Amino acid sequence: MSKRLTVMMKIFLSIVVGLLPWSSAPQAPPAVKLYIFDCGMLKSGNPDVLLDRGVTTTDMSVTAYLVVHPQGTLLWDTGVIPDDLIQPGGTTEARATVHKTLRGQLAEIGYRPSDITYLALSHNHYDHSANANSFAGSTWLVQKAERAAMFPDTPPQNPSNSAARFSALKNSKTVLLNGDYDVFGDGSVVIIATPGHTPGHQSLLVNLSKTGPVVLSGDLYHYPAERTLKDFTPFAALGNSELEAASKAKMEALLKEKKATLWIQHDIIAYSQLKKSPAFYD
Ligand SMILES: [Zn+2]
Repeated sequence: MSKRLTVMMKIFLSIVVGLLPWSSAPQAPPAVKLYIFDCGMLKSGNPDVLLDRGVTTTDMSVTAYLVVHPQGTLLWDTGVIPDDLIQPGGTTEARATVHKTLRGQLAEIGYRPSDITYLALSHNHYDHSANANSFAGSTWLVQKAERAAMFPDTPPQNPSNSAARFSALKNSKTVLLNGDYDVFGDGSVVIIATPGHTPGHQSLLVNLSKTGPVVLSGDLYHYPAERTLKDFTPFAALGNSELEAASKAKMEALLKEKKATLWIQHDIIAYSQLKKSPAFYD
């Protein structure tokens, strides 16, 4: 064997050996925790159409979630009434009643708003964005179309209550999304674009090592009956019904592919069975 060939083989072998630990060692899934916060209850604005289709409990849960990943934290949704308005005995505003502050529930597990790395809202509606301003210091993960709807070029003369409650996000450090987004780059926490209910509505896939994959629905669905009765779309008129139908088809395919469990955020019956913070899923 020529000297030159021997040197080349040595170089080749050192590269292969150098790569081996990376290519052969199985990647341990990151330890991700998912906390559920109690952000109150919302009465249906139009219960009759729901009762007609067999929905027995039309009240809706209002939730927020904290994902804790080794690389940072992600808060998903922020409740229906701002913390500053919550009285010790509970506060009712229009159809919503809230007893616990989001800030208090975060503090109970050791987090201040300034500890939250990423904020993502399923969408901008008032029952998901009430405390958004408290997290304006986080990096905001938002679909381009949703941000455009929230901050139109010509701002309304009299901004609604809900617009005032997320107004500070306008100046947040922002990652503008145009579809699905792998938050930590390892597949453990993935934003799933599910437009329709709002222009940039999104859902969240969280791969938990013990619990298995879970998807937080946002408002893609409000009640389980919307999954079984395909013609039951009580909220379609609020947004773009064709986009919503396509997003539902995308979601059902994803759930099947990942063997994931869908947590319908407003499903108060399913929610009542789940562990709330300070307990968590992992
Ligand atoms: Zn909602």
